[in-house]
Amino acid sequence: MSHGKTLQENAEQFFDKIFDKHKEQMSCAKGCAKCCHTDISIFTWEAELIVDWFMALGESDKNRLKSLWLYDQQKGEDQYGKEAMPCTFLYDNACSIYEARPIICRTQGAPLFVNDAVDACPLNFTEHFPQKTDWLELSRLNTLSSLVQMNFEAGYSFLNEERIELKDLRKILSIL
Ligand code: SF4
Repeated sequence: MSHGKTLQENAEQFFDKIFDKHKEQMSCAKGCAKCCHTDISIFTWEAELIVDWFMALGESDKNRLKSLWLYDQQKGEDQYGKEAMPCTFLYDNACSIYEARPIICRTQGAPLFVNDAVDACPLNFTEHFPQKTDWLELSRLNTLSSLVQMNFEAGYSFLNEERIELKDLRKILSIL
Protein backbone atom coordinates (compact mmCIF):
# COMPACT_ATOMS: atom_id res chain seq x y z
CA MET A 1 0.00 0.00 0.00
CA SER A 2 1.31 3.48 -0.83
CA HIS A 3 2.37 5.87 1.94
CA GLY A 4 -0.37 8.25 0.80
CA LYS A 5 -3.09 5.63 1.11
CA THR A 6 -1.80 4.68 4.56
CA LEU A 7 -1.89 8.33 5.60
CA GLN A 8 -5.48 8.66 4.41
CA GLU A 9 -6.49 5.51 6.27
CA ASN A 10 -4.77 6.63 9.46
CA ALA A 11 -6.60 9.97 9.31
CA GLU A 12 -9.89 8.16 8.80
CA GLN A 13 -9.20 5.77 11.68
CA PHE A 14 -8.42 8.76 13.91
CA PHE A 15 -11.73 10.36 12.96
CA ASP A 16 -13.62 7.10 13.59
CA LYS A 17 -12.01 6.77 17.01
CA ILE A 18 -12.97 10.35 17.93
CA PHE A 19 -16.48 9.87 16.62
CA ASP A 20 -16.95 6.66 18.62
CA LYS A 21 -15.80 8.41 21.75
CA HIS A 22 -17.65 11.72 21.33
CA LYS A 23 -20.63 10.98 19.10
CA GLU A 24 -23.03 12.72 21.48
CA GLN A 25 -21.14 15.93 20.78
CA MET A 26 -20.81 15.49 17.01
CA SER A 27 -23.40 16.19 14.31
CA CYS A 28 -21.50 14.33 11.56
CA ALA A 29 -23.91 11.92 9.87
CA LYS A 30 -24.91 10.78 6.42
CA GLY A 31 -26.82 13.61 4.79
CA CYS A 32 -24.97 16.42 6.55
CA ALA A 33 -22.63 17.83 3.94
CA LYS A 34 -22.24 21.37 5.17
CA CYS A 35 -18.45 21.06 5.30
CA CYS A 36 -18.58 19.96 1.64
CA HIS A 37 -19.87 23.39 0.61
CA THR A 38 -16.43 24.53 -0.30
CA ASP A 39 -13.93 24.53 -3.12
CA ILE A 40 -10.69 22.71 -2.44
CA SER A 41 -7.45 21.81 -4.13
CA ILE A 42 -5.43 18.71 -3.27
CA PHE A 43 -1.91 17.40 -3.78
CA THR A 44 -1.55 15.43 -6.98
CA TRP A 45 -0.58 12.28 -5.05
CA GLU A 46 -4.16 12.28 -3.78
CA ALA A 47 -5.54 13.09 -7.20
CA GLU A 48 -3.75 10.04 -8.57
CA LEU A 49 -5.43 7.83 -5.96
CA ILE A 50 -8.80 9.24 -7.05
CA VAL A 51 -8.01 8.62 -10.74
CA ASP A 52 -6.83 5.06 -9.96
CA TRP A 53 -10.04 4.43 -8.00
CA PHE A 54 -12.13 5.78 -10.86
CA MET A 55 -10.26 3.76 -13.50
CA ALA A 56 -10.83 0.57 -11.50
CA LEU A 57 -14.63 1.05 -11.56
CA GLY A 58 -16.73 -0.92 -14.01
CA GLU A 59 -17.95 0.85 -17.14
CA SER A 60 -21.51 1.23 -15.83
CA ASP A 61 -20.31 2.90 -12.60
CA LYS A 62 -18.01 5.21 -14.58
CA ASN A 63 -20.84 6.17 -16.90
CA ARG A 64 -23.22 6.68 -13.98
CA LEU A 65 -20.79 9.14 -12.39
CA LYS A 66 -20.08 10.92 -15.66
CA SER A 67 -23.83 11.38 -16.18
CA LEU A 68 -24.28 12.61 -12.62
CA TRP A 69 -21.51 15.18 -13.03
CA LEU A 70 -23.35 16.67 -16.04
CA TYR A 71 -26.10 18.00 -13.73
CA ASP A 72 -25.89 21.58 -12.55
CA GLN A 73 -25.24 21.94 -8.84
CA GLN A 74 -27.36 24.05 -6.54
CA LYS A 75 -26.24 26.45 -3.87
CA GLY A 76 -26.54 25.24 -0.30
CA GLU A 77 -25.41 26.26 3.14
CA ASP A 78 -22.05 25.74 4.77
CA GLN A 79 -21.43 24.92 8.45
CA TYR A 80 -21.40 28.64 9.29
CA GLY A 81 -24.88 29.17 7.81
CA LYS A 82 -23.53 30.98 4.77
CA GLU A 83 -24.87 30.36 1.28
CA ALA A 84 -22.23 28.50 -0.71
CA MET A 85 -21.73 26.34 -3.78
CA PRO A 86 -21.08 22.67 -3.04
CA CYS A 87 -17.87 20.83 -3.83
CA THR A 88 -17.76 19.73 -7.44
CA PHE A 89 -18.21 16.10 -6.35
CA LEU A 90 -21.19 16.69 -4.03
CA TYR A 91 -24.58 15.55 -5.34
CA ASP A 92 -27.73 15.10 -3.23
CA ASN A 93 -25.63 15.85 -0.15
CA ALA A 94 -23.46 12.80 -0.81
CA CYS A 95 -19.87 12.59 -1.99
CA SER A 96 -19.78 10.91 -5.39
CA ILE A 97 -16.15 9.83 -4.84
CA TYR A 98 -16.62 8.89 -1.18
CA GLU A 99 -14.34 5.80 -1.17
CA ALA A 100 -11.51 7.83 -2.66
CA ARG A 101 -12.18 11.19 -1.01
CA PRO A 102 -9.14 13.28 -0.03
CA ILE A 103 -7.54 13.31 3.39
CA ILE A 104 -8.95 16.72 4.36
CA CYS A 105 -12.45 15.33 3.86
CA ARG A 106 -11.67 12.38 6.15
CA THR A 107 -10.80 14.69 9.04
CA GLN A 108 -13.63 17.25 8.86
CA GLY A 109 -15.64 17.38 12.06
CA ALA A 110 -12.79 16.24 14.32
CA PRO A 111 -11.10 18.69 16.71
CA LEU A 112 -8.23 20.11 14.67
CA PHE A 113 -5.24 21.67 16.41
CA VAL A 114 -3.96 24.46 14.18
CA ASN A 115 -2.17 27.78 14.83
CA ASP A 116 -1.93 27.06 18.57
CA ALA A 117 -5.68 26.64 18.91
CA VAL A 118 -8.22 23.89 18.61
CA ASP A 119 -11.00 24.27 16.10
CA ALA A 120 -13.83 22.14 14.77
CA CYS A 121 -17.04 22.37 12.80
CA PRO A 122 -19.27 24.84 14.71
CA LEU A 123 -21.96 22.15 14.83
CA ASN A 124 -19.68 19.89 16.89
CA PHE A 125 -18.36 20.23 20.44
CA THR A 126 -20.69 23.09 21.23
CA GLU A 127 -20.41 22.40 24.99
CA HIS A 128 -16.68 21.79 25.28
CA PHE A 129 -13.75 20.41 23.32
CA PRO A 130 -12.35 17.00 24.24
CA GLN A 131 -8.96 16.64 25.87
CA LYS A 132 -5.79 17.34 23.88
CA THR A 133 -5.04 13.68 23.12
CA ASP A 134 -8.19 13.68 20.99
CA TRP A 135 -7.11 16.60 18.81
CA LEU A 136 -5.74 16.03 15.34
CA GLU A 137 -2.52 17.96 14.83
CA LEU A 138 -3.15 19.47 11.43
CA SER A 139 0.37 20.80 10.83
CA ARG A 140 1.77 17.30 11.37
CA LEU A 141 -0.71 15.82 8.94
CA ASN A 142 0.10 18.54 6.40
CA THR A 143 3.84 17.90 6.79
CA LEU A 144 3.37 14.16 6.21
CA SER A 145 1.19 14.92 3.22
CA SER A 146 3.87 17.25 1.78
CA LEU A 147 6.48 14.52 2.26
CA VAL A 148 4.36 12.10 0.26
CA GLN A 149 4.09 14.76 -2.46
CA MET A 150 7.88 15.30 -2.48
CA ASN A 151 8.38 11.63 -3.30
CA PHE A 152 5.51 11.47 -5.74
CA GLU A 153 6.09 10.55 -9.35
CA ALA A 154 2.92 11.00 -11.32
CA GLY A 155 1.74 8.00 -13.25
CA TYR A 156 -0.48 10.21 -15.39
CA SER A 157 0.90 13.05 -17.51
CA PHE A 158 -1.99 15.36 -16.54
CA LEU A 159 -0.91 15.25 -12.88
CA ASN A 160 2.37 17.05 -13.39
CA GLU A 161 1.67 20.00 -11.07
CA GLU A 162 1.94 19.96 -7.28
CA ARG A 163 -1.75 20.61 -6.66
CA ILE A 164 -5.00 20.37 -8.57
CA GLU A 165 -8.44 21.88 -7.97
CA LEU A 166 -11.14 19.25 -7.47
CA LYS A 167 -13.26 20.90 -10.17
CA ASP A 168 -10.42 20.43 -12.67
CA LEU A 169 -9.99 16.84 -11.57
CA ARG A 170 -13.69 16.22 -12.22
CA LYS A 171 -13.30 17.58 -15.77
CA ILE A 172 -10.42 15.15 -16.34
CA LEU A 173 -12.34 12.17 -14.94
CA SER A 174 -15.30 13.05 -17.15
CA ILE A 175 -13.27 12.47 -20.32
CA LEU A 176 -11.34 9.35 -19.23
S1 SF4 B 1 -14.52 15.38 -2.20
FE1 SF4 B 1 -16.39 14.56 -1.31
S2 SF4 B 1 -16.09 14.65 0.92
FE2 SF4 B 1 -14.58 16.01 -0.03
S3 SF4 B 1 -15.52 18.07 -0.05
FE3 SF4 B 1 -15.98 17.07 -2.02
S4 SF4 B 1 -17.97 16.08 -1.74
FE4 SF4 B 1 -17.14 16.55 0.32
